[in-house]
Amino acid sequence: MFDVLTQPKRILCGGERTELMWRQTRLVLTIIAVVAALPVLIPVAFLAHARDQRRMREAASRTACKRCGAMLGMPSQDRADAAWAAHVAKLFADHPPLRFRLKRDVWAICAVCGATYGYDDERRVFVPIPE
Ligand SMILES: [Zn+2]
Repeated sequence: MFDVLTQPKRILCGGERTELMWRQTRLVLTIIAVVAALPVLIPVAFLAHARDQRRMREAASRTACKRCGAMLGMPSQDRADAAWAAHVAKLFADHPPLRFRLKRDVWAICAVCGATYGYDDERRVFVPIPE
């Protein structure tokens, strides 16, 4: 009964067999190369993340709020981090089986007046987000 539902085995000719073996070999070599590079890639990723965080802290320490004039600094970044964490927690609580692809827009919220700011990574500046 089950034989009717299965596809008959296709016999590969010489060229197809060689191509299949070459594709499998490339896949195995790629996996080996990626695994071998992980001891380098992981520390580089951590260093790049630390560098980006430092640059953002420096930009926040020299940026004044466009609305109230207070310096943004770490408190505004902490406030944005807390708001983001609450937003993500609410998303996962409201839709438990779903996975999300999220893009964070707000990187600073003025601790004095609540103005929101995005971050331009290329120019290393905080940019006000229109309300
Ligand atoms: Zn402000």
